[in-house]
Amino acid sequence: MRSFTYERAMTAEAAVDAVSRADAKFISGGTNLLDLMKLDIEKPGHLVDISRLPLRDIEELPDGGLRIGAQTANSDLAAHTRVRTRYEVLSQALLAGASGQLRNKASTGGNLLQRTRCPYFYDTAADCNKRNPGSGCSAVGGFNRIHAILGAGTSCIATNPSDMAVALAALDAEVELLDAEQTVRRVAVTDFHRLPGDTPHIETVLRPGEMITAVLLPPPPPGRQIYRKVRDRASYEFALVSVAAVLSTEHGTISHARVAFGGVAPKPWRSVEAEDELTGRPATMATYRAAAEAAMRDAVGRGHNDFKIDLAARTLCRTLAQAARAGGGDAR
Ligand SMILES: Cc1cc2nc3c(=O)[nH]c(=O)nc-3n(C[C@H](O)[C@H](O)[C@H](O)COP(=O)(O)OP(=O)(O)OC[C@H]3O[C@@H](n4cnc5c(N)ncnc54)[C@H](O)[C@@H]3O)c2cc1C
Ligand code: SF4
Repeated sequence: MRSFTYERAMTAEAAVDAVSRADAKFISGGTNLLDLMKLDIEKPGHLVDISRLPLRDIEELPDGGLRIGAQTANSDLAAHTRVRTRYEVLSQALLAGASGQLRNKASTGGNLLQRTRCPYFYDTAADCNKRNPGSGCSAVGGFNRIHAILGAGTSCIATNPSDMAVALAALDAEVELLDAEQTVRRVAVTDFHRLPGDTPHIETVLRPGEMITAVLLPPPPPGRQIYRKVRDRASYEFALVSVAAVLSTEHGTISHARVAFGGVAPKPWRSVEAEDELTGRPATMATYRAAAEAAMRDAVGRGHNDFKIDLAARTLCRTLAQAARAGGGDAR
């Protein structure tokens, strides 16, 4: 690990000011950043510790939504009464991620900015456009079992590993950002992560020095919310495929649907194609299969990950069937 300097910020304004140094980075829970620094993949010369900022509150908004401070720990967010009762898909997604100890340290902002789990990204001897732009991608033509089937190009086929972000995409959440000029802006979670294009090392629309201060949830959508995660072992493992679904039905017809996938793309993957196929149709397996087919229409396998196309389709069907059975008709 390289040597670096360190300071702790006590206000959001001081933090964005302190991070304006070219080689500075924020550190929150440190559960991803410190691992990457030890491997010499992230090389900040200065760390601005934002873990003690007063951004841990979860507040009710006048419109019935929630404002989640960026420093809220993943465990606190999952356990919050309003989240458990009105945004179950978010609570389920958080609890499906990492371990209890990690969730106690991991922050809401840090979770959104965690980096991919592509093994070549972590292997500094391998070519990787994300770690070393222009060097090539070892996963295309390499062992790519965990890689993307949607939204990736040939420069990088890594997936975004966050479970939380998939639920936030289904819930139409926004990210609140603060920069050194003290300007606040909001970005939809679905627009926050970028597709790789020719610049896979640029993963989000975050501008240099900008900090995530909060995540904003609109009032919960009607219907039953479910997060289903498929992985190689039952806990402490990243998703091969995951689905966040919200489904409401009236007299057997789907009146409202939200669908987002994890583990299949470089960003949390909201599928409007699936939602369009579901809305106004009978809540039957035939409808779910048509939605899954629409969602996977542009999917491309790279060899070892071909199985994900079928797995994602089946996971969506099962999740939607479960949501309909569990009371998707109970609009709230
Ligand atoms: C063994 C293991 C298993 C895991 N399993 C899962 C899993 O199954 N599912 C899952 O979703 N996650 C999983 N994780 C990832 C974990 O959720 C993330 O490491 C964690 O959420 C990152 O949050 P943090 O606060 O520790 O971020 P840090 O490591 O402190 O920071 C991560 C990045 O975000 C930046 N940053 C942090 N906060 C802000 C902010 N407010 N504004 C701007 N930039 C910021 C930092 O500069 C850094 O670049 C796992 C991690 C480990 C180590
Ligand atoms: S998939 Fe992306 S992260 Fe993995 S080796 Fe290729 S460029 Fe690097």
